[in-house]
Amino acid sequence: MSDCIFCKVAAGEIPATLIYEDDHVVAFDDIAPQAPVHSLIIPRAHYRDLADDVPAEVLAALLGAVPRVAAAKGVDASGYRVIINTGEHASQTVKHLHVHLMGGAQMVHGMVTFAEGE
Ligand code: AMP
Ligand code: ZN
Repeated sequence: MSDCIFCKVAAGEIPATLIYEDDHVVAFDDIAPQAPVHSLIIPRAHYRDLADDVPAEVLAALLGAVPRVAAAKGVDASGYRVIINTGEHASQTVKHLHVHLMGGAQMVHGMVTFAEGE
């Protein structure tokens, strides 16, 4: 998709701090990190989100890259959290499927904060 920011990152048209890449996926640091380590893993091909008929081999490649990226970022031993925001209630902002990998400091137990009034 020509107007998709993550398609442009995957194509090398927008600069990113690349961590890992293979035939199916590209991993890079989030531009606005919300944790000491905050990286994103995306498929090279464009899928809107998890519900966009993503082939099993692409899903496997996305999750298979997680421990590799964690090791490259030095959080494999300390642990990390993986988040895939999907759709409106999850506040997905970039409509190209992506896996957040976050770590580098102790998180509280429980992973969901709701907007006020919801
Ligand atoms: P989400 O809210 O799950 O859609 O997350 C989108 C993420 O993409 C946010 O954490 C943004 O900071 C991040 N982001 C947006 N543009 C870029 C970019 N050009 N390079 C790296 N990360 C980006
Ligand atoms: Zn895209």
